[in-house]
Amino acid sequence: MKGFVLTYHSHHVVGSDYARNDHIAFAADLELMTDAGCEIVSLGTLTDGLLRTGKDAPHDARAQVAITFDDGPIYDVEGFTHPQFGAQRGFLNIMRDFVSKRGRDAQPGLHATSFVIASPEARRIIEATYDAHYTYVGAGAMTDAWWNPAIDTGLIAIANHSWDHLHPALPRVAHSRQAKADFTQVLDAEDADAQIADAGAFIGARTQRRNAPFFAYPFGHYNAFLVERYLPENAARLGLRAAFAVEARPITGRENRWCLPRFVCGDDWKSPEELTTILGSS
Ligand SMILES: [Zn+2]
Repeated sequence: MKGFVLTYHSHHVVGSDYARNDHIAFAADLELMTDAGCEIVSLGTLTDGLLRTGKDAPHDARAQVAITFDDGPIYDVEGFTHPQFGAQRGFLNIMRDFVSKRGRDAQPGLHATSFVIASPEARRIIEATYDAHYTYVGAGAMTDAWWNPAIDTGLIAIANHSWDHLHPALPRVAHSRQAKADFTQVLDAEDADAQIADAGAFIGARTQRRNAPFFAYPFGHYNAFLVERYLPENAARLGLRAAFAVEARPITGRENRWCLPRFVCGDDWKSPEELTTILGSS
């Protein structure tokens, strides 16, 4: 048995078809995964289950899938109207639509983890400078006002996607050498604390310490310092149990828990057929 972590971006809306709209894809994929016999579980259930023993689970077990959302636009929970492509259903409502249609028992563990950017200033600038070729981020979309209501639903967890994503649009990033768009340049404890510890503290304070114990590397970039030293040595202080990159591989249980792979919708798969192939590799 293997586990699969799938990643969706609720701001990836550049068309009205599966490949260009993660809302269309996510709705279709919940049905597809269920029909394929996969069990959707929380990120904690998946990682703890697979990594606890370091051995593969029994072969007759169902494949497990954990769902993650990245960057934290409010579209993870709320619908919006795209100026060109019209009404879009929020990811949370897509999950609720699935439960209404298929019943609670179809996926009793249905859950998703949203990796959010901590810095309010960074979120404000990202919102104002988004690249319309890849995404849509309307006014107010990068607010954090939805984090607590999302946790309250029991369907969505909030986790750490760094302080400012080293986002290239920012005039200044929290990094000693102003390395932008390259998280592999987080090479010492000072820079790592600025990007990971400070983000965790902010998100924890905003969520009354109800944030999930996971980190997702911006751009999927990681390095040996973070994976081998900083995260394992500071796990307790950081309140973290695992970290996620973006690599198109399942989790078998033999990975380093500070560098777990995820598949990205629109990148690693662009059609239901391609996702079926990925899941079939279990
Ligand atoms: Zn990101």
